[in-house]
Amino acid sequence: MPLSEPLENPVVLWRLRVAIDAPLAASFDYLATPEATLADVGYRVVVPFGRGRRVGVILDVLPLAGDGDLATPPVSQLKAAEAILRDLPPFPDDWVSLCQFAASYYQAAPGEALLQAIPTGLRKPDPVKRRAMKARDIAEVPATRIPELTSCQASVLSSLLPQLQGYSANLLFGVTGSGKTEVYLRLIEAILAQGKQVLLLVPEINLTPLIEARVAARFPGVAVVSLHSEVTEAVRARNFAAALRDEAQIVIGTRLAIFTPMPKLGLIIVDEEHDPAYKQLEGMRYHARDLAVWRAHQRAIPIVLGSATPSPESWSNVESGRYRRFDLAERAHADAVLPTITLIDTRRLTLDEGLSQPLLEMLAAGLAAGEQSLLFINRRGYAPVLTCTACGWVSNCRRCAAHRVVHRLDRTLRCHHCGDTSPLPRQCPDCGNADLRPLGRGTQRIEEALQQHFPQARILRVDRDVATTRKQWEALEAQISSRDVDILVGTQMLAKGHDFPALTRVGVVGADSGLFAADWRAPERLFAQLMQVAGRAGRAERPGQVMVQTEHPEHPLYQCLLRHDVPGFLKQELQARQQAGFPPFAAQAIVRAEAKRLETVLGFLNQIRTLAAADVHPEVFLYDPVPMRMVKLAGRERAQLLIESPSRIALQCFLNDWLPKISAGRGVTRGAAPGGVRWAVEVDPLEC
Ligand code: ADP
Ligand code: ZN
Ligand code: ZN
Repeated sequence: MPLSEPLENPVVLWRLRVAIDAPLAASFDYLATPEATLADVGYRVVVPFGRGRRVGVILDVLPLAGDGDLATPPVSQLKAAEAILRDLPPFPDDWVSLCQFAASYYQAAPGEALLQAIPTGLRKPDPVKRRAMKARDIAEVPATRIPELTSCQASVLSSLLPQLQGYSANLLFGVTGSGKTEVYLRLIEAILAQGKQVLLLVPEINLTPLIEARVAARFPGVAVVSLHSEVTEAVRARNFAAALRDEAQIVIGTRLAIFTPMPKLGLIIVDEEHDPAYKQLEGMRYHARDLAVWRAHQRAIPIVLGSATPSPESWSNVESGRYRRFDLAERAHADAVLPTITLIDTRRLTLDEGLSQPLLEMLAAGLAAGEQSLLFINRRGYAPVLTCTACGWVSNCRRCAAHRVVHRLDRTLRCHHCGDTSPLPRQCPDCGNADLRPLGRGTQRIEEALQQHFPQARILRVDRDVATTRKQWEALEAQISSRDVDILVGTQMLAKGHDFPALTRVGVVGADSGLFAADWRAPERLFAQLMQVAGRAGRAERPGQVMVQTEHPEHPLYQCLLRHDVPGFLKQELQARQQAGFPPFAAQAIVRAEAKRLETVLGFLNQIRTLAAADVHPEVFLYDPVPMRMVKLAGRERAQLLIESPSRIALQCFLNDWLPKISAGRGVTRGAAPGGVRWAVEVDPLEC
């Protein structure tokens, strides 16, 4: 054979392996366009798919094997790719890896995960317009006065700054008002000086304008873009493209921004890392904080997780040495002290529409002083757990650490963790009292009651109903800041990172329902919320005052709250979880399903459960299917199947084995099953 033969046939033919937004595990192969080269991995590509065309992402460029080879599908059946889109740089490898990891860990189809990370504007075959960086992005605002660091901030930074190279996971544990943002800004400054990009995640859309303004003001001339579900699709596409082109140095966004491709990414910051809003609850159910840690590790860059009330998960990572902890123990304003917290024992008081006399007096004092007050109503975590009004008995589960919940339909008490069920008791099993009541009622009419008590007061209710969009929220915020409001009445929305200097008094009602909720994460959330809400009081010069109404003042959670003792609470919480075998001491996944009738749903879950029983996964435990706490939602009945293992890896192996078996069932696909059943799996569920 002549040596020169390859040269006589210089046309090398390639096949492109392409990720496409389709609910299938595999990628798809296409004949490459003539100009394709090995360097085309990561580019978007237009390909024929079904009867239409789609934009996919090139995962690999492979030599085209002849038909005699075992390549699948054979060359003769390959369709040709139409065009490689070169209007954007290719997606970096690490971004593709992130999407693929997310898909495999959260049990989604890889193509789906990858493509859904891309704004829809970039999933169309048309070229992307280049974003002109407007004044809003590249601020001409003069740099804000840079404050002198407090000694706490200075000492944290002196250990963090020298080692902004390579992977490190750092928990910044700072009380509210301690100036975590200033620490972020100094870190960002250092990373920008290295010519790298920064990704800053915040839990709520409402918080992005606030922090964006602060960041933009600090770094004039630096392009800051934001990514969250409320920027329009067009803007989102342009911001995403700007990050990919390294034209935006700082990206600020909510959980979806974790999937921003950033070729020069040098630092990730996750503010309020404990916030459940980082969990995506539809489609691929990912946790943005957890992915952020994975991404930092994979890219070998530092990550900073900030919180006044860290999640037990992160705290346990500190204890095991995986994360380093940095404390900001004092408030940044020299004269701002922590508020005084008082518990009001409502067992011995007559309540007026749920409000106690001391609490009303506190609000009256606020009105008299012309200062703002907040009445915080804890609604979340509400579940009808039964209690005894005489002795404080609570409907605990006999088999696990959860509380059993009242099911009115069949008059039972049920544990949503293990399924333990018994008839609704007629009297207290401990003291015989017949007055048993579901916890967490009676908060609805509080606003009206307040108005009757204080007819002269300007009362503003703030919850999801009145502040759904960012615009509405900004209007409300302006109203509050300009002191057009005397008493704010609100739910968890108000607890988060907002700064209202005139707010000095906070009253809390309904907190107990979070103490004994069926969801074992409820206490963690309650504690975080109460700490946050207490942190709202007296941020500036005026000292704050907080009153919490409770029937369980002796409860350890409240005792920790009184002392502002976050580490103490987390220690207890982690001990309890270790004893109960809950995360982070176990890994969990949950299959949720819904259909018209509960029997259909339970039938499906029982059936898929038997598919698992035959398997040899000794480290994995499947509970009985149970109806969900809110059994009925939008006319459909829902149930769930909890899977638990002491080992994350064992759980992953099990899921990789089991889920394809479910989907292989007759008429079953990912997401749907006979009888109109819809189902989905969630790894590391936050609620179960
Ligand atoms: P956190 O996010 O920790 O609750 P912030 O970052 O919002 O706290 O800071 C709380 C307040 O303290 C803000 O008004 C901020 O401007 C101010 N602050 C932060 N650091 C300093 C500092 N070094 N000197 C003076 N004021 C500061
Ligand atoms: Zn009793
Ligand atoms: Zn139980």
